[in-house]
This record gives sequence, C-alpha cells and structure tokens, in this order.
Amino acid sequence: MLAEIVTVGDELCRGEIVDTNSSWLAENLWDLDITVAWMTSCRDIAADIARALRDAAGRSDVVLVSGGLGPTEDDLTVDVVAQLAGVAPQVHAPSLARMTERFARAGYRLTDNNRRQVRAPAGARVYDNPVGLAPGFEVAIDGTPVICLPGVPRELHAIFDADVRPRLVELREARGESVERIARRIYRVFGMGESHIDAALAGVTAGVAGASIHYQVKYPETLVKVVVRDRDAAAAGERLAALDREVRARLGDKIYGTDGDTLAGVLGRRLRAAGATLATAESCTGGLVGALVTDVPGASDYYVGGVVAYANAIKVSALGVSEETLAEYGAVSRECVVEMAQGARTRFGADYAVAVSGIAGPGGGTPDKPVGLVWLAVAGPGGGAERSFHWPGARDQIRSLAAHAALAMVLRQVAR
Ligand code: ATP
Ligand code: MG
Repeated sequence: MLAEIVTVGDELCRGEIVDTNSSWLAENLWDLDITVAWMTSCRDIAADIARALRDAAGRSDVVLVSGGLGPTEDDLTVDVVAQLAGVAPQVHAPSLARMTERFARAGYRLTDNNRRQVRAPAGARVYDNPVGLAPGFEVAIDGTPVICLPGVPRELHAIFDADVRPRLVELREARGESVERIARRIYRVFGMGESHIDAALAGVTAGVAGASIHYQVKYPETLVKVVVRDRDAAAAGERLAALDREVRARLGDKIYGTDGDTLAGVLGRRLRAAGATLATAESCTGGLVGALVTDVPGASDYYVGGVVAYANAIKVSALGVSEETLAEYGAVSRECVVEMAQGARTRFGADYAVAVSGIAGPGGGTPDKPVGLVWLAVAGPGGGAERSFHWPGARDQIRSLAAHAALAMVLRQVAR
C-alpha cells in the first residue's frame, strides 16, 4: 500500500515552521510497514490544495492530510475536500456539542467561525479530537481514502494514535495485504559514534527473521532502532527480547536508556531512587548542565543548584579552588575540575557534584591546551572520577558534548 502525505499551510511554504507532521507521520507509517511514496506541502490556497489532493489520490492508495481544519477563513481543507468528494460540508454534531460544553465551562461565547471548525464533509467517517476542537475525518476521493487531521502536532498525534493507526491496518487488510506487526525498541547511546556502534553490532540480526537495525544521529547522541516484523505480534516480541539481551551485551553502559529516555531524565530517576542530591560547577558550559538537569519535571527532588564559575576569581571565591592550582595547572586541568567538584559538593551540601572546564573555541587554544579540550570531574560519596576529552567540532557542539558527558559521568558514578 502506497501512502502520500499532504501538509497544508502558508507558514510551511514560507519556511516559518518546520513540517514535523510529515516526518512524524512518515515514521509512524514506516512502523506500520506502509511505504510513503510522496510528501507534498502546499499553501492555504483552495486551487493548490485541490490539485495536491487530486494528484495524491490519483497515484497513492491512501492519503494523509494535515492542516487547515481551524476556524479562520484561511482554513480551507474541509471545503476543498468536500468539493472533491462531491458532498457538502456539515457541522459534526458531537464535536459541536463538545465544543459548546467546553466554551460554556470557560465562559467563552461561541462565534460563527467556531462552528466552521467542527465541520466535516457529509457522509465522512469522523475521528474525534480528544485534545482539541477540530475533528479529523476520512472521505474517498476518486475511490482513494483521504484522511484529514488538524495541523497542531499534539492533536494530529492524538487522533492518529486513537483511530487512524488501526484504520490503516484495516485498510491494508481490506486490500488483502498481509499486515506484519512490529516490535521495536530504540536504544539511546551516548559516547560511541555511529560507525563504532555499527561495528559492535555487526551480525547481531543474522538469522533473526524479520529483524533490522537502523541508526539515527541525534546530536550528541545516537539512536539505535531495532525492529522485528512478524504476522504474529507475540513472536515479534519474543525475537526482540532475545535481540535486546545481545544488543545490551555488546554496547554495555554506552546504552543509557531506551525509547523516549533522556540522559538527564535517566540520571534524575537514578538519583531519586538513591535518595541522593546533585550540584553543578560549570565553566565552559555556562549553565548548560544545570539547564539539562532542570529540563526534567520534578528535578527539585534531587538537584540543589550550581554555579557558573567562568572567571578564575569566581572559581576561587565561589568554589574554593586554590590560587596555586590555577597558577600552576590552569583552569582547564584535572586539578582545577577536581577542586571545582569537591568545592561544589561541600559548599552545596550535595551527595554528588559535577564540574566542567574546557576550551570551547573558536579562540583560546594553545598547543598543549587545544580547542575542544574539556576536563570533567565528579565528586561523590564513594570518591570521584575525572577525565579529559578532546572533541572536534564547533563551539556549540563542544559545549553540548561536554554537558552531556558530564551527565553521563555522574550517571556512571551513581550506578555503582
Ligand atoms: P487550528 O485549529 O489551530 O487552526 P489547523 O488544523 O487549521 O489547526 P493549521 O492552522 O494549519 O492547522 O496549523 C495550526 C498550527 O499547527 C500551526 O500554527 C503550526 O504551529 C502547527 N502546524 C501546522 N502544520 C504543521 C506541520 N506540518 N508541522 C508542524 N507543525 C504544524
Ligand atoms: Mg488554522
């Protein structure tokens, strides 16, 4: 079954927003073993939308449309689709009732253009919107199912998850295609490049029916997606579980989490479970480590705070780094980050403290301390650890790598 994705919106074609709906839909269709053959974006112009939909319906077996279901005059999808399907737009009573009730609760008055937003072509199969106002719907254009969804990503995801995914499986089965179920896991890997991961996993899927591995670099980490397809969902799940043991054995603690995990999130869970607290002492990352840690809701359970000690004077006054250390070894040195970490740990009364000092560039490098040199240290109840890295790359890449490496280093200490 060939699918096409059509996204509608002036902002898409002007480059003001990135078309994440297409990539999200494409990824989810891929998981369903449905091939996306075309992806088209067009402006909020009726003739353009009509042409895109007619072309799509003519060459694909199913069309997914996003955008233009809102209340304003430039939201034209319902009208265009209705016209192509040869029917009239109609208010969808259950969606209107839900909107009326929501508005009444909030004390808003319903306007005429609100009513526009709860329409669907007459006779369409309507997909309720559990998180917004405009429902999704499906009609046939020239015999091809065309499924329209709102442009707001959260709403598109919710309707797809609830109704469209099972509907696509149904459509495939109706075509007599054997639909394979998919079992998959994404391994989140930090501290090991794509080519090294690939080498470590060489041959891991050999002889495992329906299994494949896909890599995605999501700087500064790499995602390893392991997929097993089978007519029988349980059989796919069993083979995935067997592969899971092998993948973990080969990549070890370079895998810090799976699926939607983040380094900061996993570290947070680990700290909370250990009943331990964390402090940060940052130089070249300028607070990035603290920002990553506090991106996670509930970080106050374990994060006490930190200092950005950019100048040497602040490393001395705020963290207690000794003048002699700075004079003898410099700010980017093992000795300095160890004192930064110990100072933060003691002064903030935290169980763990992590310190970062490095040369992010593009200037400031010397032959023995080149751009990209970063020293990290962790101080903890069981002692500490420190190490240096020398990364290639631009300033933002080095800072991002340093911040993530700092989290990975604490994670390793807490895990012990
Ligand atoms: P609304 O009811 O909000 O008007 P709609 O179905 O009419 O929804 P649009 O008006 O096209 O959708 O888009 C609403 C918002 O959703 C946009 O401002 C944009 O932030 C986001 N959006 C729309 N299309 C996409 C897309 N393809 N990828 C990512 N975000 C999108
Ligand atoms: Mg809109």
